[in-house]
Amino acid sequence: MKVWRDLRCGDASTAHVGREPTVAGWVARRRDHGGLIFIDLRDHTGIVQLVVNPERSPEAAKVAHGIRSEFVVRAKGEVVRRAPEAVNKNIPTGEVEIQVDELEIVARSEPLPFQLDDEGVEEPLRLKYRYLDLRRDRMQRNMRLSATVISAIRRSMEEQGFIDVWTPTMTLGTPEGARDFLVPVRLQPGKFFALAQSPQLFKQLFMVGGLDRYYQIATCWRDEDLRADRQFEFRQLDLELAFPTREEVLDVLEQVVVASFEALGKAPPPRPFPRMAYAEAMLRYGSDKPDLRFGLEIEDATEVTRGSEFGVFAKAETVRYLVAPRALSRAALQKLEDFAKEWGAKGLAYLVVDESGEVRSPIAKFLSERELQAFEASPGSTVLFVADTPAMVERVLGALRLHLGEELGLIDESRDEFHWVLDFPLFLPDEETGQWTFVHHPFTSPIEGHEELIDTDPGAALSQHYDLIWNGWEQGSGSIRIHRQEIQEKVFRAMGMSDEEARAKFGWFLDALQMGAPPHGGFALGIDRFLALLAGESNIREVIAFPKTASGSDPLTGAPALATKERLDELGISLKERRAKPSG
Ligand code: ASP
Repeated sequence: MKVWRDLRCGDASTAHVGREPTVAGWVARRRDHGGLIFIDLRDHTGIVQLVVNPERSPEAAKVAHGIRSEFVVRAKGEVVRRAPEAVNKNIPTGEVEIQVDELEIVARSEPLPFQLDDEGVEEPLRLKYRYLDLRRDRMQRNMRLSATVISAIRRSMEEQGFIDVWTPTMTLGTPEGARDFLVPVRLQPGKFFALAQSPQLFKQLFMVGGLDRYYQIATCWRDEDLRADRQFEFRQLDLELAFPTREEVLDVLEQVVVASFEALGKAPPPRPFPRMAYAEAMLRYGSDKPDLRFGLEIEDATEVTRGSEFGVFAKAETVRYLVAPRALSRAALQKLEDFAKEWGAKGLAYLVVDESGEVRSPIAKFLSERELQAFEASPGSTVLFVADTPAMVERVLGALRLHLGEELGLIDESRDEFHWVLDFPLFLPDEETGQWTFVHHPFTSPIEGHEELIDTDPGAALSQHYDLIWNGWEQGSGSIRIHRQEIQEKVFRAMGMSDEEARAKFGWFLDALQMGAPPHGGFALGIDRFLALLAGESNIREVIAFPKTASGSDPLTGAPALATKERLDELGISLKERRAKPSG
């Protein structure tokens, strides 16, 4: 039987000198030096230089003339040491080359739609030819790094006593806050499965079922707008454990993070990761996922501006500010005001303290000495105020803080800041309907002693929900769950669901909570986001082999596609409007 190769390109070294291996791979480059032909042969391990000398092998030389970039070739020859002046220090195999005796074209290639070493290729083209893109160093590195991390995660989970159990992906909709993808069922026309937004209720049932510690690298589907950190389908390290304290769940995740860093030879973040209450995060950073690689904290001025002569401050429910460490120009301030308005602010009041300490501001004349002193601005800085409802102030200043962090280069990119955000509210009012809605999902437990508040003052109830944040990116969420049926029913009620409706939708789950449900809790770590940050990428598409574009399609296969009339008839579906003819 033919042996395709017995040495990997990147492994060739002086230890092989004198041996006659067979190598196979892609032609990264071919150079014809009038007589001698040099071929850089590439496989997944690296590059080795082949030298085809017509005097040594006229047959091989003939073949070499017909070879082009990205042809797949197989070569046999002798490993020789390069002359000192020909050593290539840029590649690990640079001290040797292979003098070719036999050369074979295994597969030809058309000229490629882009050069593999071109860094500026547009993403749609990269995705259309993803199999070529995958040959590039960046994608090879990202895919291999991902595999290393996923294997370290599995190892860590198994060492911690978790077992991998599969859950159905075609199921009943899980309320995780997004739309479901629906799957029509030919055998039951008019009925649909939902693709699981997460294994949430199944993993809770595992706890009722006595499996104790479950995990899965689960694919989840959510019909949401795609962004740099969001795809229709994505992977989660999904886990659940019985009888946990909150600290035990956080500890499991911290171990996973540390194991992942160590698997990549990176210094892991120190444990325990800092913890911050949601209320504090919102107050100091205007965000429930603050980026702690820079300061620029939000300060409160509500008290000090209560009797202010500046009516906007005096009347507002909340006044807060940021001190940007620059004396900003009028033009820069105008841009910041536009930015703040886009986020919903009515305006952006400011005080510029120039280098000499002089204050430049249209509102300074209305502010008392006490107010001015309270703002503590040093020369060369700008105080930016937002006065509005607490929610609006947090939203605008949170966005402004991040914007300024980037614009003014305040973010220390060399830092890795992991932290937990805890003690979220159980409910927040829905922006459109005003109805109380869950912050995490409806299965999250209130903190002990807050069960009664679900009926009496839902907005005041805190939950046992926790988020893991890395450099301002939410890596995942989890919670200690409700394990008592009557509390679960209260939550449904607070969300405006009648008991009948709750029974109809979740009766099967409420039943389980009445048949010996142990206390339980868990978490889901967004694998794609985690991998992207580990790989130093700012978009999760770079760590997904075949991602969708921002508009939700796949340029490689052309999916999604129209369905034929026959297919739709079979499913009992008629479309309101057909925009184009299906192709198949
Ligand atoms: N199911 C949740 C999610 O996907 C995670 C959890 O609560 O465990 O975000």
